[in-house]
Amino acid sequence: MRSVEDYRKIVGDGAISSIYKKARKLYGKHIVNINSTYQGGGVAEMLSSIVPLMNEIGIEAGWRILHGNPDFFSITKKFHNALQGEKINLSEIKKKLYLRTNQDFSTFTHINHDVVIVHDPQPLPLVRFYSKRQPWVWRCHIDLSSPNEEIWDFIKEYILRYDLVIVSSEKYRKKDLPVEQRIISPAIDPLSSKNMEIPASMIKKYLKKYEIPFDKPIISQVSRFDKWKDPEGVLRVFEAVRKKVDVRLVLCGSTASDDPEAWKIYSKVEKRAEPFVKSGDVILITIENDILVNALQRISSVVIQKSKREGFGLTVTEALWKGRPVVASKVGGIPLQIEDGKGGYLVESQRPEEFAERIVEILKNPNLGETMGKNGRERIRENFLITRLLSDYLDLLNYLYE
Ligand code: UDP
Repeated sequence: MRSVEDYRKIVGDGAISSIYKKARKLYGKHIVNINSTYQGGGVAEMLSSIVPLMNEIGIEAGWRILHGNPDFFSITKKFHNALQGEKINLSEIKKKLYLRTNQDFSTFTHINHDVVIVHDPQPLPLVRFYSKRQPWVWRCHIDLSSPNEEIWDFIKEYILRYDLVIVSSEKYRKKDLPVEQRIISPAIDPLSSKNMEIPASMIKKYLKKYEIPFDKPIISQVSRFDKWKDPEGVLRVFEAVRKKVDVRLVLCGSTASDDPEAWKIYSKVEKRAEPFVKSGDVILITIENDILVNALQRISSVVIQKSKREGFGLTVTEALWKGRPVVASKVGGIPLQIEDGKGGYLVESQRPEEFAERIVEILKNPNLGETMGKNGRERIRENFLITRLLSDYLDLLNYLYE
């Protein structure tokens, strides 16, 4: 298990000592995190690092996963899409199944913790089914800046019961929500198998194992097969890039267990990519493997993130940390991470040609890519590593106990 001092060399003694100091009043406090999936996606990624680290510094932190059937996850996916602005048919049946799943879970999940942290909308209504004896915090990881009003009004009823709401960016603060709101940006763990330094021999081994040749430059996007991540758009970008430079595209996307739409999106992408898959110029991967992601990001000449909406975009953080230039849409938390022209390029329109132009510019000028990579890594080191996230959570817990 990793411990906080393992991060000394990366973040410096000051940051480590400040974490120990902030933990002092919290020894033995019992907190619980609740979300709805143990793998796939950024929330599970962060919890798997932050929960053990909290325990290591003396806080008894737990992690529970809401159980739901496929219908529940199909409904909550629709809620998620609607919270990011899509239309929804918010029927009574949907509301009932959503609430009943939470109520059922509450009957066999006993909570006697000092603080409860609920992540994202799936377990949000749980708060309604307990006699509250402690502060409840709703940690929202998605972009709430322009939700469908009907769904927003429905879930707000439950948010109002919370003591505090955490969002990922200043932009997501809700003016029409009279609950205290705090900003905590997400972060990555530089020592996890997804982000740790790995030798060139291991990179080669993994690329071979997953049949990714590296005889020409690789461009890649690592993201769930999800319409907001626009994998079809990435294919169009690839089509435009290859008119100018011979490259290979790797699309790597796991299918999160709480994401029923993923296979539909995947089949669409597969169909469009068919001729390129046959020629070996596009490689589609649906296997979840942290070292593969690590190797793929490290070997990529340019990393793409063509999201249409993005809560924060940990994949961008991961690629920048590995010193890779990133060409990404200017949405959600991405502009917090990339300074346009410094750590990569931010693209305002969703036009594939515009992405392609930026990618080609970097591919034709490797020095530019290297400089961007260095700048990007430093920005992540300063702002978006797990020790900063831990420190923000400690501030939050101390605040709740003041
Ligand atoms: N991820 C992965 N394998 C995949 C796709 C995604 O390990 O095939 C990981 C990715 O490396 C990142 C997280 O899932 O750590 C995605 O987080 P992000 O904030 O980018 O997007 P989300 O999926 O939460 O919308």
